[in-house]
Amino acid sequence: MMEYNHILVRYGELALKGKNRTKFEQTLARNIRFALQGHPRTNVKRTFGRTLIELNGEPLEEVMEPLRHVFGISSFSPAMRASNDIEDIKETALQAFLHHDGDKQTFKVNARRSYKPFPISSQDVNPMIGSHILKNTEETFVDVHHPDVEINVEIREQGTYITCGRMEGAGGLPVGTAGSVMLMLSGGIDSPVAGYLSMKRGAELEAVHFHSPPYTNERARKKVEDLTKVLTTFGGPVTLHVVPFTELQKAIHSSIPSNYSMTIMRRMMLRITEKIASDRGVLALANGESLGQVASQTLESMYTINEVTNMPILRPLVTMDKQEVMDISERIGTYSISIRPYEDCCTIFLPSESVTRPRREKAARFEKGLDFQPYVEEAVANTEVLTFGGEPGETEKDMDSLL
Ligand code: ATP
Ligand code: MG
Repeated sequence: MMEYNHILVRYGELALKGKNRTKFEQTLARNIRFALQGHPRTNVKRTFGRTLIELNGEPLEEVMEPLRHVFGISSFSPAMRASNDIEDIKETALQAFLHHDGDKQTFKVNARRSYKPFPISSQDVNPMIGSHILKNTEETFVDVHHPDVEINVEIREQGTYITCGRMEGAGGLPVGTAGSVMLMLSGGIDSPVAGYLSMKRGAELEAVHFHSPPYTNERARKKVEDLTKVLTTFGGPVTLHVVPFTELQKAIHSSIPSNYSMTIMRRMMLRITEKIASDRGVLALANGESLGQVASQTLESMYTINEVTNMPILRPLVTMDKQEVMDISERIGTYSISIRPYEDCCTIFLPSESVTRPRREKAARFEKGLDFQPYVEEAVANTEVLTFGGEPGETEKDMDSLL
């Protein structure tokens, strides 16, 4: 008996032409190969405005699972391949219908003939397949308006692909088509979601985490590493930069008025993140701020903190409510890690009261009393670089070899 032996991947009607389109398709195919590394017999091909996965004996359900997370896919369907012989097409369509899971009392056949030398028009193919199915099944009916199953038949030069039903893909754009973003990753709920949403729009991710040993412990660090690993499942390797922040925090603590120490600490974080990003050729930063969520996330505060960089800062959560962020975080598998207890470097030296409307002039004046540049340089120099989801140092080569 015939089985589903392919998956047909659709990426929607993109307003992409020429070189951009090729890059998009190549990157998507590469990311699918990366997601399917656990299924080495699969073969990913770009063809006729779709991506085709040959299963070659790999289990369909297990291959579909990681596909759900690959950005740039609008939908996908298990498919059976037939030759361009009408008898073969009829029989394969019947088998595809029989193997389809779910309600299937009523159906509709939807043939598309892109291969013009095929001798029968699509209007004529539809009833030929329909009557073959009706003849070989019981209690099934054709319903062209609201069928339980839509049997799509794509007649291409390379062969005919038959699908029933479709799964929704993750949407967005393939990771790697939009350049790289440096995510400021804490151990909290918000920043991993901000990273996920940046990837959704095609950005490759690197992450920066500030820690303050011995005030923050190994558990806090492990948490951030685990979050980074989850993020790799959405688009490939992620490099994590772990910045030692203790000395700078101590310096802030001893020389900045306490109601401004949070603002100054954020400005320092941003300076260091910008330095790491520009050293890596990364053009934008991202964080998990949401407008008005906490004292440091007022517009006045963003205005004053943002002053120290002119790199764009993506804030994918800026208009979201906490509940919306939590819902995404549960869905993507970061929530259970984010809620593990840990010490955050930001909370350690900080006073309970911070200004909610910090001013640029004041922040700059206070910073004059602290010779911070050597601290910033020292922190950057001692940053530890770890890569997850690929061999350390070989990330690019690995991804390129999947193109
Ligand atoms: P999150 O849930 O992401 O920790 P939050 O609601 O706790 O966010 P803040 O503590 O104000 O908010 O942090 C705002 C943003 O600053 C975070 O979303 C993150 O992008 C960045 N950030 C905070 N702490 C760190 C850290 N230790 N390392 C790297 N980035 C950090
Ligand atoms: Mg936090």
